[in-house]
Amino acid sequence: MSKVWQNWSRIESVTPARVAYPGSPDEVVQAIAAARAEGLRVKPIGAGHSFTGIAIAPGVQLDLRNLQGVVRVDTDRGRVTLAAGTHLYRLPELLAPYGLALQNMGDIDAQTIAGATSTGTHGTGAAFGGLATQITGVTLATADGSLLVIDEENNTDLLDAARLGLGALGVLVDVTVQCVPAFKLNAVEKPEPLAAVLNAWEERATGPDHFEFYWFPHTATALTKTNTRLPMDAPSAPLGSFKRWVDDDFMSNKLFSAVCGLGRAVPAVIPPINRLAQKLTNNREFTDVSTSVFTTKREVRFREMEYALPREEVPDVLRALDRLINQNNWKISFPVEVRAAAPDGLWLSTAHGRDTGYVAVHRYFKEEPGLYFTYAEQIFRAHGGRPHWGKMHTQNAESLSASYPRFGDFLAVRDKLDPQRVFANDYLDRVLGA
Ligand SMILES: Cc1cc2nc3c(=O)[nH]c(=O)nc-3n(C[C@H](O)[C@H](O)[C@H](O)COP(=O)(O)OP(=O)(O)OC[C@H]3O[C@@H](n4cnc5c(N)ncnc54)[C@H](O)[C@@H]3O)c2cc1C
Repeated sequence: MSKVWQNWSRIESVTPARVAYPGSPDEVVQAIAAARAEGLRVKPIGAGHSFTGIAIAPGVQLDLRNLQGVVRVDTDRGRVTLAAGTHLYRLPELLAPYGLALQNMGDIDAQTIAGATSTGTHGTGAAFGGLATQITGVTLATADGSLLVIDEENNTDLLDAARLGLGALGVLVDVTVQCVPAFKLNAVEKPEPLAAVLNAWEERATGPDHFEFYWFPHTATALTKTNTRLPMDAPSAPLGSFKRWVDDDFMSNKLFSAVCGLGRAVPAVIPPINRLAQKLTNNREFTDVSTSVFTTKREVRFREMEYALPREEVPDVLRALDRLINQNNWKISFPVEVRAAAPDGLWLSTAHGRDTGYVAVHRYFKEEPGLYFTYAEQIFRAHGGRPHWGKMHTQNAESLSASYPRFGDFLAVRDKLDPQRVFANDYLDRVLGA
């Protein structure tokens, strides 16, 4: 009997009929065939860091922990093929011998390369696409038992579907990543007036390499982060280990966890605590290797909804969220996060065909998202928003098809590769149709 599986935020859980641990592409093919013979559906899981039920596997859950590491390297082109279950936190060690790094990263590195690319995981930077835009090829184990190579030479017409495929087209057994020479980042983090940041949003988002900010509701302050790319031989000025522990571990995780627990019990304390937090929060500058700057540890569990918007909509959306919270007198302990990304051509990418700004709302995992997320989602939708595939939302195939010009093309590929819906689950039935 298999055990209950839960995602990171503890919102979704399932007890799979069976768990398989394939250790090679052939074993993935065999696991799919065995599941089909039993009439079971199949779903690979990554790190379980999606907030939606996208990774729920009621039938055979494929745990890819034995499918990790470097498969091959094309040193001339800086391309590294990784086994699908490789966690992002292993990349610094795996890529170091080749002097390579990921071009951009999100907030954390817990995800697997296959899970992250499949849901459109992104970082920030108006000139940089999400992780899937860096994928130049994949090998997909399909429902009919083949291993399909999809890259610039083979089955190229499937590439823009397969590298951001929501796990709906088959099981990725490896992905090839276009890396860049390893680099450093100079990070400047400081509190600034929210109104000024919103008024200058276009310049702030597009000027520096990587700009983002957090806004704690009940305050008028944006905590800005501006990262500038530097060559690897630039001098380092890393955070001291004590400073990093105080800022990133104690303040952002341990103290914040206690504060969230207190805020849940006594919501009235949240506004003064948020105001205090923005005063105590980081005003710092440091330079380090890219991975140490892009990612941090997130130990306080939360629930998240994130929408991709036409970039110019971001200031109005933030102002509307501020009004929404004030009018309803809600007490919100978690910050709103704002980022940017370049347009791309991937069929289901949230940044498809437009300069993109991302706005994310969060709540402590022990608090119901409630009307905060419901009304925030209405604001996002009214401004042309597309929901992150791995974060909470209530959209369905009908509403989503209007947001994606290539939605029908994706469904056609799905019909071709998985006509019997071996890789479906309730979430995919909702967002793509049964
Ligand atoms: C604390 C936290 C911080 C986050 N920060 C960011 C961020 O900065 N930016 C951002 O965009 N997102 C962020 N996310 C969301 C996260 O990046 C995505 O949800 C991502 O998909 C999680 O990867 P995973 O390996 O956990 O995949 P899972 O959640 O386990 O799976 C996601 C999907 O990928 C599929 N999948 C997994 N492996 C395969 C495979 N081998 N073949 C085919 N399909 C596969 C699964 O079936 C499922 O459909 C964050 C989430 C958390 C909890």
